[in-house]
Amino acid sequence: MTKGPRTVTLVNSPPVCPHDPLDVGVDTSQSGAAHRKLPARQLGETTVGDGPGRRTLLTAAASLAVAGLVGCSSAEVRNEMHTAPPASRTGPAPGAPKAAYQRLMEGNRRWVANALLHPDRDPTRRELLAASQQPYGAVLSCIDSRVPPELVFDTGLGDLFVMRSGGGAAGPVITGSIEYGPMTSGTPLIVVLGHQRCGAVSAAYRALREGKPLPGNLQAITKALRPAYEQAVRESSADPADTMARAQVKLTADALRSNRDLAPLVAEGVLAVVSAYYSLDTGQVEILNGAPV
Ligand SMILES: [Zn+2]
Repeated sequence: MTKGPRTVTLVNSPPVCPHDPLDVGVDTSQSGAAHRKLPARQLGETTVGDGPGRRTLLTAAASLAVAGLVGCSSAEVRNEMHTAPPASRTGPAPGAPKAAYQRLMEGNRRWVANALLHPDRDPTRRELLAASQQPYGAVLSCIDSRVPPELVFDTGLGDLFVMRSGGGAAGPVITGSIEYGPMTSGTPLIVVLGHQRCGAVSAAYRALREGKPLPGNLQAITKALRPAYEQAVRESSADPADTMARAQVKLTADALRSNRDLAPLVAEGVLAVVSAYYSLDTGQVEILNGAPV
């Protein structure tokens, strides 16, 4: 793996800041994000995690470097983001949480009804996005091969930031990756997506119930899912692994919604954090909490 600025790997966008060749280059001209009042700590010190274990990940300077914003003020960055939006078969990228939510749910309805558009998955779209991107959603889902967010929401190239981990477990790196879009480019929606018959959750449930750690690094997933396990035990349902899967996404969404970097955006109404559950049987995404009104 070659060494290089993290921004290039994460966003792969062109320079737009006159002071730094690594700026994010995310277009927000149709989203209204450029006009939003960003949180006081916007682009300053970045932290990950919650509660007592929460720790500072980056210094302010390092955080700016991660966002590719060294040498630019927030206002400069936002002004520089005014560029032409890429054309899309499904219209301009939604800029508000409710519109983004509706766009994703429309895509899921197409998936369920076998009426897919497969929008914006061609070389033309690739060319239009080569200079900038404007994802309207950030999705955290499980690694399960049957739950790819781009398919179950029928989205196209450049629509979503996607994070995937076993059981949707979210440590500092995943949390920071989820925060990236909302904090740097006004991504208005985060979806934390669990699913039916999750093997990672079931394995973690058994490991915790029987007190037998999973081998190697798999145990890290078990540890991350412990709060959901404990909630499932308290709820004592007929299907505790399924209860644990649902608890995991709700707990993760709650933590994101209230963390100190994202909470100001949620309070301002420019970001919604939704927990959801995907049915392998029907293809339907069921919203558990946080749907924007
Ligand atoms: Zn899973």
